[in-house]
Amino acid sequence: MKDIILLSVVIASIIFNNISSQVPYEDEKVLNSTNNDESKKVKRSDSEWRRMLSSAEYHILREKGTERAFTGEYDGHFENGMYLCAGCGNKIFDSETKYRSGCGWPAFYEALPESVEEHEDNSFGMRRIEITCSKCDGHLGHVFNDGPQPTGLRYCINSVSMDFKPDEEDE
Ligand SMILES: [Zn+2]
Repeated sequence: MKDIILLSVVIASIIFNNISSQVPYEDEKVLNSTNNDESKKVKRSDSEWRRMLSSAEYHILREKGTERAFTGEYDGHFENGMYLCAGCGNKIFDSETKYRSGCGWPAFYEALPESVEEHEDNSFGMRRIEITCSKCDGHLGHVFNDGPQPTGLRYCINSVSMDFKPDEEDE
């Protein structure tokens, strides 16, 4: 009996050491390479989101709403900086990839690596690809394949879903 207890203490300490002191570098790389890693997501209850977000932000980010065309704060906005998710601050678009699409919403030809996730959206009788924030799952907009080179993509994003951070504020 004593031996069994001793053995389990030894096993437990080996496991604990492996977890606490040496998270293998390889594993860390694997974790960072996937944007579907649930443990890195920002999880909040519905009532927390309601408290944190304005009613317009809540409607678009959490209820997949869409702001009216040509009304968004960032539609005709072309300063240099970063666009962040309004729900969690995740960096999603660089102003360098923003262009004048004329579609009525801010448009980008590329998202920052692993910042967004794509989902099939067949609502309203259309086949579209919905874009959500990879960190908080907030609804951002849709992506279409009628954008300019080099990607040919048009990320059509609600202004309300984003905050803008000008380049000067970078430390
Ligand atoms: Zn987010």
